Amino acid sequence: MNIHEVNGKHESVQNFCELGKDAQELINAAIEARKFSYSPYSKFKVGAAIRVGDGSIISGCNVENAAYSPSICAERTAACKAISTGHSEFKAAAVVAFQQDSFTTPCGVCRQVLSEFAKEDIPIYVAKPSPVRVLVTSIKSLLPHSFVPLPTD
Ligand SMILES: [Zn+2]
Repeated sequence: MNIHEVNGKHESVQNFCELGKDAQELINAAIEARKFSYSPYSKFKVGAAIRVGDGSIISGCNVENAAYSPSICAERTAACKAISTGHSEFKAAAVVAFQQDSFTTPCGVCRQVLSEFAKEDIPIYVAKPSPVRVLVTSIKSLLPHSFVPLPTD
């Protein structure tokens, strides 16, 4: 196990086969969702899955567009599906994509969106489509100073 400290939080690279059943199930859902990726422009397929408050899993893939800016990441596709079906509490998330030499962590925008619906620090599993090693991190490790609006009077 390779553990390093990031902003006072621990994250580690773990073997997929040694993760708990719930984490494996979440990663597998992200792998399945990635198969539906609509990414003819970047050719970069991403799948994501979110464990919501009632324990179910809601997944999504990236959806690109010819005009580029309407494109949406897999994590936000899953988040929007979750919210729009009444699941506003996120318990864990997984992201799956393939880069030869690194893990594909969520972009800054997706970190902020996931953070919005995580009542506490939640695990984020980052894996490749044939997961052997998994980066196990958390939303607060990925986004230690998320934007929180000032309270209004
Ligand atoms: Zn993103």
